[in-house]
Amino acid sequence: MNRVYNFSAGPSMLPVPVLERAASELMCYGDSGMSVMEMSHRSPVYDKIIKDAEARLRELMNIPDNYKVLFLQGGASTQFAAVPLNLMNKNKKADYVLSGQFSTKAYKEAQKYGDVVAAASSKDVNFSRVPEITRDMFRADADYVHVCYNNTIYGTKYPTVPDTGDIPLVADMSSCIISEPVDVSKFALIYAGAQKNMAPAGLTVVIVRDDIIGNAREDTPVMLDYKTMADNDSMYNTPPCWCIYIAKLVYEWILSIGGLEKMKEMNEKKAALLYNYLDSQDYYIAPVEKSSRSMMNVTFVTGDAELDKKFAAQADAAGLKNLKGHRSVGGMRASIYNAMPYEGVEALVAFMKKFAAENPKK
Ligand SMILES: *Cc1c(COP(=O)(O)O)cnc(C)c1O
Repeated sequence: MNRVYNFSAGPSMLPVPVLERAASELMCYGDSGMSVMEMSHRSPVYDKIIKDAEARLRELMNIPDNYKVLFLQGGASTQFAAVPLNLMNKNKKADYVLSGQFSTKAYKEAQKYGDVVAAASSKDVNFSRVPEITRDMFRADADYVHVCYNNTIYGTKYPTVPDTGDIPLVADMSSCIISEPVDVSKFALIYAGAQKNMAPAGLTVVIVRDDIIGNAREDTPVMLDYKTMADNDSMYNTPPCWCIYIAKLVYEWILSIGGLEKMKEMNEKKAALLYNYLDSQDYYIAPVEKSSRSMMNVTFVTGDAELDKKFAAQADAAGLKNLKGHRSVGGMRASIYNAMPYEGVEALVAFMKKFAAENPKK
């Protein structure tokens, strides 16, 4: 078997030890006589899996007791609606920061439900950095501020937690969750689609402060009301059982190698290898401003669309998969999530050097 280095932005690589463990338990989980895929979500065996998944995530992220962890379906995109439905309840106002495509989608969805404004945007610089944020940008009576913490498509990230003062801060962390420690207490709500850094597609994790729950608009669909899911321990209906099981294995894997401090160190080392190379040459251009660089998604271009195409095709043939940039941006994007080994980035940099030498620009 020849596993490739898969730089896909999502669904993306999973840690090999997790895949091996899942394979070993595929036919028969413990002494249950069945696969996790075949189990009743109400069975005691499964109950332990979901409870352990939550416990491991709490341990990993150091989630305070006054926060609930919800395992949901519908992807991060469903949260674009769930957030305003649940949170825009006092003054029916929310302030959004536009830092790329996903935050813009979230903003447009929220506009259906109240008085929603773009408090800041970096669209004028083609989202090549995150907007600068200061408290005074936000309306004092906004019910919340929404940010996309790591912008998967553009390869940008906030260098520090945005300061919104007393206004509850909501963050889409789909593409950076559990890549490094974060102070959960600074956020009212964090949500993340699992398919970037946690599990297969089909699971969305929501970490929400207790006081936020229970104030949804009257017309909120029962499935989108955080109270429904919190009161039922994410089991109002059938949860994405298999994905939650894999997420549990991923959390256990990170804990086994030293937790999020260690994960951060490993991710910094990988990102530094790639960015240091990008900064040392002028064949490739890294369009993101240094202060906004993402540790998870690294974008670069040759400046020649034909060369970019050739790069992605030849990299693919060399076992470096999915390096083509998002269709809206072009160029290349290397997603180097937790499961990407250092050797994968080494192989990428070696390929980049070879490609540059073999394809001089005119
Ligand atoms: C991938 C992604 C989304 C969309 O996630 P879905 O689970 O496909 O709905 C939203 N926000 C960010 C930051 C993402 O990376």
